[in-house]
Amino acid sequence: MATHEIKQNKNKNKQVQNLLRHLPENIAAFRLECSECSKQFRPNWFKLSNEPLIPVKPNDHDGPGRWIPIKTYEICPFCEEAVPLDLPVVQMQSKVMLFGDEAYREEQGKLIFTYSLVGADFKVMSKIEDSLRELKSQLCPSEAPDSWAFHMKELWSGDERKKHRVFRDWNFEKVQLAVQGLFQLIQSHAEYLFMYNIALTAKGSLKGFKSKPVLERPQDNAYILLIMYVINECTKAKGQPVLQFDAEKQTKADQVIQGWARDAFSGSQRCLIYPFLAKGVEIPEPIFVKPASQPCLELADFISYIIARFYLKKWQGKEIEEALNPRNLGKVMYLGSDETGDLVFHKTESYPWELFYES
Ligand SMILES: [Zn+2]
Repeated sequence: MATHEIKQNKNKNKQVQNLLRHLPENIAAFRLECSECSKQFRPNWFKLSNEPLIPVKPNDHDGPGRWIPIKTYEICPFCEEAVPLDLPVVQMQSKVMLFGDEAYREEQGKLIFTYSLVGADFKVMSKIEDSLRELKSQLCPSEAPDSWAFHMKELWSGDERKKHRVFRDWNFEKVQLAVQGLFQLIQSHAEYLFMYNIALTAKGSLKGFKSKPVLERPQDNAYILLIMYVINECTKAKGQPVLQFDAEKQTKADQVIQGWARDAFSGSQRCLIYPFLAKGVEIPEPIFVKPASQPCLELADFISYIIARFYLKKWQGKEIEEALNPRNLGKVMYLGSDETGDLVFHKTESYPWELFYES
């Protein structure tokens, strides 16, 4: 590897380390006991190492066999003994399809950026898809349900509606009916529907952040923190997360995080945190798909719109419209950051506004 590449990798690792300094609880609490001096210590999760993550056994999943790292060594900070560390390996039992979309709002020099991931076990995905098609057919019997998509920005605003092939004939009453239908759909699948939302705020404008390097922008941080959180949650439950995003909104952070994950897992310089997040489960790189080509993308757009608008209304000192109250979504895992920049999360029905800090 060329020197500049190593330097680049080190910088990238530092940025990711800074972002992920607040590790998922199960990882943060982990301690290793030295076999020599019996003292306990925290593994260095972000140290880049050229040591191979030692063998490797075929992973028992429903594809061809795969070699995965199962053991490494950490140096005891007290006596410098090399202490063996078993890497977590779970038996993959399900595949979780998750679909992501984003929204943002700017108001009074402040920016809110939000991502939502919505999905379910692949075995029940068709139930959700069928419900959405049914709702669309009820609202617009003359058009094939897959030929148009719910897109909240075009649906909620009167001016935007006029330009839309399907929405242009809809009055506000019908719009509210559609929104109620989406809330009901979400509630009717609540038992197995996964909903995650992250919102980060910053001073500045989207235009201002555009020229900033990746990982210094709230949209990139939101993307990375959300997917890392969700990967860890899925693998804890023995699921393989399959992430799909709207291709029109592809983020540069995606390339950085994928590059980092590749380096961390199989590159020449490895980082211990990754096998602990993945737990032996193969994590496919996020796919960027045609907008609204997957019904759950429409639900992710719906949730992101609602949360972004919630911030807008709060900042404007206005009431939250009952028709778009996040409470109607039921329980969502909401992520955000507190005033020290720590990632905080809470699964709740009403939006945990007080929990999160606004920049
Ligand atoms: Zn020791």
